[in-house]
Formats: sequence, structure tokens, C-alpha cells
Amino acid sequence: MSQINLNLPAVEIREIRTGSIVGYDGDAKELVDLAHSGKLRDKERSFMQCEGCSITKAACMTVLIQDGAVIEHGPIGCSSCLQGYNFNYYSNAHLRGIEKPTQRKIFSTNLQEKDTVYGGAQKLAATIREVRKRTGANVIFVLSTCAAAIIGDDIESVCNEAEEELGIPVVSITCEGFRSKVWTTGFDAAYHGIARKLIGKPEKKGDFINVINFWGSDRFRDWFAPFGYKPNYITPFSTTNTLKHSSEAVLTVQACSTLGSYLGAVLEKEYGVPEIETAPPYGIAQTDRWFRALGKALGQEEVAEKVIAEKKERYLDRIAELREKLKGKTAYVTGGAAHGHALLTVLGELGMNAVGASIFHHDAVYDSGREANDQLAERVEDYGNVPNYRVCGKQEYEIVNALNKLRPDILLARHGGMTLWGAKFGIPSFLVGDEHYSMGYEGIIDYGEKILETIENDEFVKNLQKHAINPYTNWWLTQEPDHFQKGGKANG
Ligand code: SF4
Repeated sequence: MSQINLNLPAVEIREIRTGSIVGYDGDAKELVDLAHSGKLRDKERSFMQCEGCSITKAACMTVLIQDGAVIEHGPIGCSSCLQGYNFNYYSNAHLRGIEKPTQRKIFSTNLQEKDTVYGGAQKLAATIREVRKRTGANVIFVLSTCAAAIIGDDIESVCNEAEEELGIPVVSITCEGFRSKVWTTGFDAAYHGIARKLIGKPEKKGDFINVINFWGSDRFRDWFAPFGYKPNYITPFSTTNTLKHSSEAVLTVQACSTLGSYLGAVLEKEYGVPEIETAPPYGIAQTDRWFRALGKALGQEEVAEKVIAEKKERYLDRIAELREKLKGKTAYVTGGAAHGHALLTVLGELGMNAVGASIFHHDAVYDSGREANDQLAERVEDYGNVPNYRVCGKQEYEIVNALNKLRPDILLARHGGMTLWGAKFGIPSFLVGDEHYSMGYEGIIDYGEKILETIENDEFVKNLQKHAINPYTNWWLTQEPDHFQKGGKANG
């Protein structure tokens, strides 16, 4: 298990903690073997486009807390894309039974050139007071930026003083973009702050299971019900109160091994909440393993077997029909690890041919230290290898290059903006933001039907292809996708 020290204001970055990388070109099995043998090394690029910043991931896990407010301490440009979480909040609130979603409370200290000379601490203290006055938030998160880190503002001390003055938690989140090449460090930074200031010591055991997730549909309520438990979704759509009591859960499960790696380990190590000992439930084989691990952890193995048998009875025929229709179709996946791994698993279950993937980063190990949580390893084991597997650091020029060469029947994406590249090549492309949509037996059917529908309705992308202008030159499209990665093909 990796180092966890809640006494320190900042979490250790992923490159150090989990051996994470953003550059690789090979196949999935080789990547899994390198990671498990401790030989995985990152590849540097001599050319890069814009990369993700940790601040967006820290915001993702804090802005959506119902009764919180978030201050980005830095130039206003660093928070220019945070308003997108307001959309996420409104559009997904109904999935969690929130009838009257409230506008998200996002602020910036708007540091100016003068502040970088004289320091921004006073401005931050005044902003925290003002935000509390305007919003009445029960918790205020302060996200650091590169500019604030460069000038050395003591954000932690300002937050601690404000906390004493205002009587609510004021949480410093150390997530400036230049700390880490792996943007998911931002998730960990947010969780670190939440664990330090919001999660309380357990007073009793509750009747709930923590689900570390984004904003997906409420699949887990039905799945936990036969075991006599309900889900405690964290951290989007949680409250300061539900976060406080998350230490009283009987178990923690995750929607994505990458997302919840750190928080799951913190809840286990610091608060005695065990984490499920397997990867999330995508594909039949892994769904069965997941229900069995759930039953074992809850001491209800017979309930798990009953649930699995009922699901097989109810869903296997329809899954077989979809397999027949999708047999031999080729697909390319782009997304973050480990949700990208999950989509590759679903493709395997549907009998489709995953011809490649551009996944944004790879964690050599998760914070739990358990190989059983490795979704890509399970995918390779259950459905075979994935060729042309790339860890791309979200470098779109590499994705376009690979797509142009492989020309799959469908592109599956998880992040906004990525389907555009497939559509420009006339490739039917589809994006599902709800990461629970493809989970479990139900998810194989829901996702499979969407794939089928997208492939069958390709008129729009075929027309778009005729009129689209590709910004990349023929020279680039004829190079190898890893052309700008130094150090040859193999990592290690
Ligand atoms: S990388 Fe630094 S400067 Fe750029 S958005 Fe992130 S925090 Fe701001």
C-alpha cells in the first residue's frame, strides 16, 4: 500500500506514489506485465499539445458537493473551465433524487501581476470571508494554482485561520498543474483535503456502502438492496454530513479503480473501512467476481450467488442476441484509465474486436497495492490482448493519427470533444458520460444497444466527413503515433 500521511497538507503525486505514466505504445498485455513487474517507465515527448491540469480534477470532486463552495486561488484563467461542473450538477442531479439543484458556487481570487509581487494571501483571506457571506456554504475548498505556488502563498495557514474565524471547515487543496504530469493527481489532492478536514472518526457502523464515483446513474441501490445496504455516493452529490459519516460504512466500492484509488486506501487505512478486493463490475466475468467479492466482504456469499443466478436468467439471452449482431465489428476506445479499460472489457463481452485504444494515463499500481483491482489485467485475462494500446497523455494529435490508420467501425469515448475526431473521419462515434451506464449485466445490454444504434445510423458522420477540414498535415498522418515519444517503442 502506498504512503498516506494526512498530517501533510499535500498528497504525494501519482508519478511517485503509484508509478503512473502518460506515455506508452505497444499492446495491453505488455503494459500489464511491465506494470506488475515494476519495470514500467514513462516516455517523454519532444512535442506536446495542451494537457489536462490537476485543478480540473480537484474541482470535479469538490464543486459537486452539495453544500460547498470552491475558490480557485490564482489567475482567473485557471478556473475558466470549472463552470462546466455546473452543467454536470444540473444535468445529473435527478439521477440522485435531487429535485431542486442549486447553482454551483465557484470563485476565483483573480490574482493580478501586482499580487505576484506582494503576495496573494490577504486577497485569499478576504475572498474566503466574502464567499462565506455570499453563499453560506458549510465548507469552502481552496484550490491552488501554479502562480500561487510559484509566489509561495501559504494557503494552508490562511485556510486554518479562516476556519477558526468562520467556524466551518476551510480546506486547502494542493493541486497546481505543474506538480504532476498525471492530471488524476487532482482527484487525490481533493480527497486528501476532504480526508483531513471532513471525514470524521467513526462512531458506529452504518447500513451503507461507500461508492466512490463521478455522477453516474444510481445502479448500486438495486445491487446493494438484496444484501440489506444502501449506497453512500462520494464525493459528487454528497454533503458535508454524508462525507463526515463515510468512515462508518461497512465497505467501499469504486466505479473506477483510478478515480478512487487514494480515497479507498485512506478509508481503509485511516478509518478501518475495507475496500472491495476486486475491480469494478464491467463484463460478465468481472461482474460475477464483483458480486462474489461483495458477498464475501459482507458475509453473505449465498445472496451473491442468488443475485448472479437471477441476472443470468434475466439478461443472458439478450446479451447473446447483441453479440450475434455485433460480432466482428471493430472498435477503438479513448478515455481515462481505468474507465477506458472497462469499455474494452464490455467490447470483449459483446464479441467485438477492440483494435486499439488511446488511454490518458496508466497507474503501475493502485494505492491498495492489490493486483486484483487492475481492470486492464482482468480484461486481458478474460477476453484477450488489445493491440495498438497507447497511453497518450490526452495528446489529440496522437489519437487522430492512430484513428486514421485503424479506421474502426466505431469510436467509443468518455470525454467531451474526443468524438469529433472520429466523426471527421466518418467513423460513427459515441460518448457516454455516465460511467455506470455500461456496468453489470444491465450495462452490457444498454451499452451494446447504443453501439448498435450508433453504427447503424452513420449518415451524419459520413456527410460530415465529406465537408470536414482536418487540421493535421499528410506528413503527420503518415508518421507513427508515437513519433514524438523519445526512447523507442518498448518501455522498461
Ligand atoms: S497548469 Fe497551472 S496555470 Fe495552467 S490551468 Fe493548471 S494551475 Fe492554472
